[in-house]
Amino acid sequence: MKYIGAHVSAAGGPDQAVHRAVEIDANAFALFTKNQRQWQGKPLTSEAIAAFKAACREHGFGSAQILPHDSYLINLGHPESEGLEKSRAAFLDEMQRCEQLGLSLLNFHPGSFLRKISERDCLLRIAESVNLALEKTAGVTAVIENTAGQGTNLGWHFDHLATIIEHVEDKRRVGVCIDTCHAFAAGYELRSAKAAQAMLDELDRVVGIEYLRGMHLNDAKSDFGSRVDRHHGLGKGNIGLEAFTALMQDARTDDIPLILETVEPENWPEEIRWLRAQASEAAPAR
Ligand SMILES: [Zn+2]
Ligand SMILES: [Zn+2]
Repeated sequence: MKYIGAHVSAAGGPDQAVHRAVEIDANAFALFTKNQRQWQGKPLTSEAIAAFKAACREHGFGSAQILPHDSYLINLGHPESEGLEKSRAAFLDEMQRCEQLGLSLLNFHPGSFLRKISERDCLLRIAESVNLALEKTAGVTAVIENTAGQGTNLGWHFDHLATIIEHVEDKRRVGVCIDTCHAFAAGYELRSAKAAQAMLDELDRVVGIEYLRGMHLNDAKSDFGSRVDRHHGLGKGNIGLEAFTALMQDARTDDIPLILETVEPENWPEEIRWLRAQASEAAPAR
């Protein structure tokens, strides 16, 4: 089954994200469980948790169809102890919020070395940060997103993802999310069906396809290999539609959340319909 959706707003409470996903005929969605631009989020109330779980049940969303995203402020590879501690505390809070909501995945951007430590030291710090969060939680998998490699962000090369995973102790609770725009900007060719398949082959070779726990489906306004992160609507950017057709027809993208983070939310229903047609599956019964 293809689980296709978008990163919807959770304004008004996480249950509202479920309703927004239903409105765009999605059978997957992403959300922030707190304001993504602030360090502190208000604790989830028992009412908010119950409303979210009820909405998921009512509309047939299981935790495998939901890919929450953590705050942009968190840097799990921070070179300085104060920033690192703050990030680790915030990440643990995000993991616990997922636990409370009955969610099984948390998508995060690995971190930045800020030119103060080596890339390798930063990757090891990120793995240690993940270990610390996994020790204190149960049932939630930390899903590392590949990045465009803007600035000093790590995770743009599949080797980075492999190194982090290598140093995470509980391999059952670590995974990766591949963002097509980020991969393209990082130098992974995607401008044909063959290239898109080859990107997944490469992921399998370097990381292992069993770690693929989600994808972000974005076309790229940025150029190939530019290391610049600018999303675009499907078919409007430099990647083009062929890659997305190939990804929808590839069994390696079955049963994981496939999430649009494209720039025009008004086009999501259309983009979801188009992706589903590529997978040649009927809209799911709900
Ligand atoms: Zn993304
Ligand atoms: Zn991005």
